[in-house]
Amino acid sequence: MNTIKNVNFEGERVIIRVDYNVPLDNKNKVTDTTRIEASKETILTVLKKGGSVILLTHIGRPKGVDANFSCSLIVDEVSRILKQKVLFCSSTIGEKAELMTKSLRSGEVVLMENIRFHPEETKGEITFAKQLSRLGTVYINDAFGTAHRAHSSTTIIAQFFKNKYLGKLLEKEVNSIDKIVNKGKKPILAILGGAKVSSKITIIESLLDSVNDILIGGGMAYTFIQAQGGSIGDSICEPDFCEYALKLIEKAKEKEVQIHLPSDVIIADSFSNSANTKTCSISNIPLGWQGLDFGPESIERIKPLIQKSKTILWNGPLGVFEFNNFSKGTIALGELIAEATSKGAFSLVGGGDSVAAVKKFGFANKMSYVSTGGGAMLESLEGKKLPGIEALN
Ligand code: AMP
Repeated sequence: MNTIKNVNFEGERVIIRVDYNVPLDNKNKVTDTTRIEASKETILTVLKKGGSVILLTHIGRPKGVDANFSCSLIVDEVSRILKQKVLFCSSTIGEKAELMTKSLRSGEVVLMENIRFHPEETKGEITFAKQLSRLGTVYINDAFGTAHRAHSSTTIIAQFFKNKYLGKLLEKEVNSIDKIVNKGKKPILAILGGAKVSSKITIIESLLDSVNDILIGGGMAYTFIQAQGGSIGDSICEPDFCEYALKLIEKAKEKEVQIHLPSDVIIADSFSNSANTKTCSISNIPLGWQGLDFGPESIERIKPLIQKSKTILWNGPLGVFEFNNFSKGTIALGELIAEATSKGAFSLVGGGDSVAAVKKFGFANKMSYVSTGGGAMLESLEGKKLPGIEALN
């Protein structure tokens, strides 16, 4: 891996592709600064080693220039987190942008305007990538959230640089996935929750080659239960995937991977926090009721599984954690993984909603690593090569 560990940036203008796709509230205040914090180490390393920094990022999915997605809205927050003045350039490419970046002195940082104001970015256009490359002399990719996309600023740009590196964040992300897929201490447990089987199919299949146990929770479990003949009432289900679920159970048996499903769940008479609830066997849910959370017996049953696992991957909540009344399973799981981690297990949490859940319930600092990339993490776990990382080789 081309890391920045032994690189001298003296006199270099270093383009760092960061992922500042952060949420803003209606007063344009950044509501979650995790991604900005995560970029700090790379930026400060480059500055300390004598370089100047040119930050490239996208925010949201603007269709052309749109003030609501301007990087000017986040520049003060970036300055506050880096504890140093960050300049803002209202262009991304062209004469003004090149002039501003060329005049940077060692130790200075500039944040360029949203690269997605240019539709060429997501098309991965080479001329746009070349224009971007003129801003600096060295290229670093530290945007894990978009490393699975062959966009101009994440991938195509790299060909114009002799000196191109993985940032510290990207390095950490790659290493933690490696700790699950290639170097995981056994027994390895993958916990997959969330709403849909269809969105996790390829990942379950590829995990069969590297893990010992798979715990399926959340809305995904009901498709597996229905496939096996259980009654799931009005619970979320994807009937088109029942056959696939059965095949997967067979495949898991062949590969000696244990699949664990909940035995009981909390059912509700409507999809609402104030619904009436009961605890029920997952295979006998009456019509008019739907399963919205892991049940108490299921939680008891997964305790020894989590306690024995040396490596734990967690993607997707065990219930509708956004509703307080259906968050118990997800909280209990978070507590169990935190405890296992404190006793030496390696735990990796990733994928939008599980990250939101660990943050909401205060577990983020108790996991070994919380990934900043949803799609990129899933694709890496599936064994796919990420274009943003390949381009650096
Ligand atoms: P995903 O993006 O696939 O990880 O799905 C996350 C979403 O799944 C969260 O918003 C949860 O509320 C939802 N979810 C988890 N369990 C259930 C369930 N039993 N029924 C419906 N939705 C669920």
